[in-house]
Amino acid sequence: MKLNAFVLGLVCFACGVAVAAPRKPKAPKPLWPVANPGFLQGNFTPSTNQRLISGIFGPRLKWGDGRYDHHEGFDFYAFFDEAHPRGDHPVTCILDGVVTDIIDPPNPERTETGRKVVVTHAVPWSAYGAPREWGPVKSGYLHLSAIRVQKGQKLEAGDLVGEAGESGYTSTVHLHLNLYRAGGRDVNVNPARVFQPKLYPQAVTPLSKQTVEVQWLERDVEGGTAVARVLLPYNAYTLDGFVFEVDKDTRRAISFEYVSAEQRDKRDTGDVDLFPGLRLYPLRFNGGGTLEANNARSVPRGWPLARHPIRGGGVRLGFDLEARDVPKDAKSFAITVHGVGGERVTVKARGFEASR
Ligand SMILES: [Zn+2]
Repeated sequence: MKLNAFVLGLVCFACGVAVAAPRKPKAPKPLWPVANPGFLQGNFTPSTNQRLISGIFGPRLKWGDGRYDHHEGFDFYAFFDEAHPRGDHPVTCILDGVVTDIIDPPNPERTETGRKVVVTHAVPWSAYGAPREWGPVKSGYLHLSAIRVQKGQKLEAGDLVGEAGESGYTSTVHLHLNLYRAGGRDVNVNPARVFQPKLYPQAVTPLSKQTVEVQWLERDVEGGTAVARVLLPYNAYTLDGFVFEVDKDTRRAISFEYVSAEQRDKRDTGDVDLFPGLRLYPLRFNGGGTLEANNARSVPRGWPLARHPIRGGGVRLGFDLEARDVPKDAKSFAITVHGVGGERVTVKARGFEASR
């Protein structure tokens, strides 16, 4: 009898008979897909030039104009060293699985994803706390310089998939890792669901009262706006979005995964009309310097950042949130920061630094 596949112990409420319930699938720790020397050091402290993840899931400011897109995966830093002067480090499979798709176009530079491999894993999303209907975890490895697997090939976690590169629309050598779930067309999932702080305590900082900082920047009573800035450690990768509450009105909300799943056609045009009553202004994160240095250049006029430059130092992840259609007599303001693991931190306003 294959009892190991089940646990007994649930009692059916209708008939009082013990029934077999499927055991909760175990969540294996995914392997880091690109070896990073810093990550292997026990006391490693991430810094600007040796980042573990150089691009996170969610809104990302594009250079040159006031728009942003929703980056739908993680970018893994591929450092340059003597053995890999072009950064073409081995890219390895994060979990056991089977290669289910390969995109290897003759002219990868003209494609968005470049050389790409998709692996379907045996482990279901429910092992990581997601709904059962999300199906199996799938991972996608993009912008490769070389592909070292074939369709249908079985892989174990840590097996070679290819080498990091810059094929497709990208400006630097790195690995872009996508995670997908079932749902119509495959839908992108925040990789933080598997690369969570519990499994990677050094690399991933959890959202908490200690790590979330909210500054209440300005209130414009006549204009009906209120602006706040949320600053996080840049390795708070589990961020899923915000609720900007005005007098208990919670409709000003954005979930980055929801944008990915439901708003695909709008996700590359910024947030205009995406979420009523809320505008989001992501601060520059991917530029590689401190926030001050990154944001000193070509900040679109009209952005809160132009009126409220970043104070203090450090490499942070930041967003300016603007509540719109704020009633003149609104009294209480609060922001809740949500993580993909269900974690949340709420900060209430005690007043604004500037008001008119
Ligand atoms: Zn990317």
